Amino acid sequence: MTCTFVPPYLLARLASTGADPTLAGAGRSTLQVDARLRDQRAGAPRQPPAARTTAVSSDPAERVIRTADHTEQLPGTVARADGSPPTGDVAVDEAYDSSAQVWDLFATEFNRPSADGTGSTLTVTVHYGQDYDNAFWDGSQLVFGDGDGQVFDRFTKPMDVMAHEFAHGVTQYTAGLTYEGQSGALNESVSDVFASMTKQRALGQDAVSADWLIGEGIFLPGINAKALRSMTEPGTAYDDPRLGRDPQVGSMADYVTTTEDNGGVHLNSGIPNRAFALAAIAVGGLSWERTGKVWYDALTGGEVGADVDFAGFAAATVGSATRLFPDDSAVAGHVRAAWQQVGVIATDVAGTPAPTTPPVDVAPAEQARRLAVRRTGGFAGATRRGELDLDDDPRGPQLRQLLQRADLTTLSPGAASPDRFVYTVALDAWQLTLPEQDLTPELHEVVRIVLDDAGGVDLG
Ligand SMILES: [Zn+2]
Repeated sequence: MTCTFVPPYLLARLASTGADPTLAGAGRSTLQVDARLRDQRAGAPRQPPAARTTAVSSDPAERVIRTADHTEQLPGTVARADGSPPTGDVAVDEAYDSSAQVWDLFATEFNRPSADGTGSTLTVTVHYGQDYDNAFWDGSQLVFGDGDGQVFDRFTKPMDVMAHEFAHGVTQYTAGLTYEGQSGALNESVSDVFASMTKQRALGQDAVSADWLIGEGIFLPGINAKALRSMTEPGTAYDDPRLGRDPQVGSMADYVTTTEDNGGVHLNSGIPNRAFALAAIAVGGLSWERTGKVWYDALTGGEVGADVDFAGFAAATVGSATRLFPDDSAVAGHVRAAWQQVGVIATDVAGTPAPTTPPVDVAPAEQARRLAVRRTGGFAGATRRGELDLDDDPRGPQLRQLLQRADLTTLSPGAASPDRFVYTVALDAWQLTLPEQDLTPELHEVVRIVLDDAGGVDLG
């Protein structure tokens, strides 16, 4: 499996940068090494070795950090063993700390010690090559370059790069997603999903407050970039003369068909990335507690094949959500709605309006003036409308309070159900459409007040 952190198109862009020979050399040599490694890795194992089932207790070393000393020899010499103090070598110590974070996420939250699940020691090699612009999983260990010092900083610097690469190892030993086309984009996406969860967990962030950026800090100052990828807004991570513009897509409407980058695995991964972020934000709380468990179950549960496409994986996540959270059907509803929002699952209930995505720049309830509610659907198919002015109406302050408590930016519509009502709540020009079962208690009260005020039912 080929799992390099920096997409080949970005390295190719650097290699062709005529103005800076050093930088072009860094991009070119990284591409050449990557091509050699791809050939070596073709026969990497998909399943854990059968004889290693007793390794958990007999081998106390969880992780060992090694250095290649700027050569391309793997695994290199031991730089920091498990449990030993900081070395003063920044890359070694960063790798030590970030590998602890991702190890702990998998061991504690997903009951998976090590990538192969048997407690095997994780080997991480840093200081790989010269000006090496990448990090990768080579089929049995993790490898990190120091960057070129002009565009890319050390690949050990953002902790989520480590988690991204480690997750490629987990995928290899579980679903074994073929690194090509849609299964390849899922392979990439799953790595970003666990990378973001590792970062959020280390920083103590919930899904709503997380930045959902991947590789934040990987670019040196002077590069116009937030990160390498954005999960909530694919295509917005960078825009710089040396890098070009982030080409990731976040919706099936923009799906890229190409033969480059294994069929655009780093481009189309934005679609399942965004589905996970939307689902986690809608489900709320800590991303690894519910939505993350759903994705982990779909990846490792044996239900998806190596060549699964987006729709097949989406169906597996909805199935996992239903199975894992039988008493909380909202989880499966949010997961399904997220895949609908990125266009992977079609909105399939006839006559029910497609759920709208809450825009990020929602009109805050304190500022908006016009509040309108429309109720459609239902067995009789009647439409009911109500509208009032929040500044003039005596119930304005009460409604504003309810709307603020409802926190509209975090709401996301779940799956539509036959014959249930669908509500559209509009604040000035902004609006949100939710099926009845997804209304929060505050929104229930809001729509009750506004529709009661309206009185009659419009059967048109
Ligand atoms: Zn990757």
